[in-house]
Amino acid sequence: MIKRLLVIILFVIAGASLAARPVEAKVIDEHIFLIRAGAVDEKVLKAIKEKLPDSLPMTVKVEMMEPRDIPESAYDPSRQQYNAEMILDAIARKVTLDVRVECALIIVDVDLYSQDLNFVFGVANKAKSMAIISLARLRNEFYGLKPDNSLFIKRAVKEAVHELGHVWGLAHCSNPKCVMSFSNSLTDTDKKKSTFCHECQKKLGKRYMTPFFKATLF
Ligand SMILES: [Zn+2]
Repeated sequence: MIKRLLVIILFVIAGASLAARPVEAKVIDEHIFLIRAGAVDEKVLKAIKEKLPDSLPMTVKVEMMEPRDIPESAYDPSRQQYNAEMILDAIARKVTLDVRVECALIIVDVDLYSQDLNFVFGVANKAKSMAIISLARLRNEFYGLKPDNSLFIKRAVKEAVHELGHVWGLAHCSNPKCVMSFSNSLTDTDKKKSTFCHECQKKLGKRYMTPFFKATLF
């Protein structure tokens, strides 16, 4: 009787330990934190957060970080634009990231410039594992054209993926369809896809220990 009871107890313990075994966690290759700086439409942020993983070949987790202010010192009244690097540097000083597996994308809705360039859609800093994109020039309205929200979101995702690509060590790509091709204007942005070409994927793959090719994107 005692023997049978012991067997039953052991069986229950074994069953409990089996049930308690955690489901194998999904490997996350990269954590992306989105940081709103200044006034940015929540709906746009949400759309970028939702759509980003679909354009990336690795497994990512996208999270919102605490919003930040745009430093007033980054504004150049003579240009009526903000210095992209100054915003990035100011926010980078307040954010701690594990640069091996974490990065942050700052999103602003003010017009940005960088050094001698008239304007920039975004800027990346690989060492800081951070990038910044501006939504200001991605709307049709900026050019006096009819609003198109779906196109605007597509452009924002492309710019986000492009700058994150720089954060992950990719340079500009000569393939005009690749998201890493340089956009001199919105026409270039509209021509390219939101995904990395095969060559850029291969370069990106060296960053991760796990194979991440979810599908052939091109
Ligand atoms: Zn490419």
